[in-house]
Amino acid sequence: MKILITGGAGFIGSAVVRLAVARGHEVVNLDAMTYAASETNVASVSGSNLYSFEKADIRDRAALDRIFASHRPDWVMHLAAESHVDRSIDGPADFIETNVTGTFNMLEAARSYWVAQGKPDSFRFHHISTDEVFGSLPNDPQVKFTEDTPYDPRSPYSASKASSDHLVRAWHETYGLPVVLTNCSNNYGPFHFPEKLIPVVILNALAGKPLPIYGRGENIRDWLYVEDHADALLLVVEKGELGRSYNIGGENERTNLELVKTLCSILDTLKPAAKPYAEQITFVTDRPGHDARYAIDPSRIRSELGWRPSVTVEEGLTKTVQWYLDNEAWWRPLLERKGVGVRLGVQAAGETAA
Ligand code: NAD
Repeated sequence: MKILITGGAGFIGSAVVRLAVARGHEVVNLDAMTYAASETNVASVSGSNLYSFEKADIRDRAALDRIFASHRPDWVMHLAAESHVDRSIDGPADFIETNVTGTFNMLEAARSYWVAQGKPDSFRFHHISTDEVFGSLPNDPQVKFTEDTPYDPRSPYSASKASSDHLVRAWHETYGLPVVLTNCSNNYGPFHFPEKLIPVVILNALAGKPLPIYGRGENIRDWLYVEDHADALLLVVEKGELGRSYNIGGENERTNLELVKTLCSILDTLKPAAKPYAEQITFVTDRPGHDARYAIDPSRIRSELGWRPSVTVEEGLTKTVQWYLDNEAWWRPLLERKGVGVRLGVQAAGETAA
């Protein structure tokens, strides 16, 4: 199949691009190359005759029309987004423009292309979203997010993703556009931009810096290895039922403190230092509106599509730490990008962004 993948130079998008090419799909990677993107993320496939790249912004409708017309994709996998919650607190406008208006542009460009093609049944518009749209769960293992959990987003980021999910569903109901949606838990793994918790902890540990934990570290997340996520996404775009959404989780719930302690003990083994890395743990001011717990009920994707994650969090974190140890040439230059290494998203309630 020919797949138009947006955001394919980012963390998850690049994992999808690499896996899709490895499976013999033709891939068009559409990316604006924001601060979060890196050409190196797709270097392993950029020489393949199955791969092409379009530098374009999803806020630019004319560019999208041109790309649809020239590449004529069978499927669209839409991942391009502003993705960092802390940045959304300081500067929500970019999140509305890219995640909401950009998704609207993608839907309209896809719809007009699909209509011009004679509305093929085989066309797919797959929207990749987050479990954060469902809000925050109590600390009760019996309660998890299902596909029927009402939306209750709390941050500018999750509200923008919830909005885009609603638009995608509306384009299916109103215009019949063949869509599928996925909402997944926190990803981690190779090529994770060094502003997110796991790479920050690994790189600060190696640099002898404090390992910042928001609040008391009691927030619970369900961690999904990025290559497992990419595998699930390719399954859903191929076999998912039209108009349906699928929750994707790692079956790996951990408090942030447990997660960071696990990372420290992996580092103690793979890169021993004079003192245990856990001694660098430091508690810092919590994120405003920090959701207490996210947890995915994966029953639908497991029973309908037969998918389960392939690694435990310990296996995935060990692979990830080793990858960062082996790939300093990838992460070192990214530390110079704007906002990296700086605490973001702590402005007081009511304070306006600069
Ligand atoms: P990322 O920030 O690493 O990558 C986003 C990519 O989108 C970048 O390459 C960037 O250049 C591109 N992009 C941003 N704005 C653009 C625009 N206006 N036009 C074109 N390209 C643009 O993000 P990620 O972590 O890989 O997340 C990818 C998708 O998965 C997002 O939609 C996100 O909401 C979703 N998601 C992420 C997670 C997670 O844990 N990271 C979990 C669930 C869902």
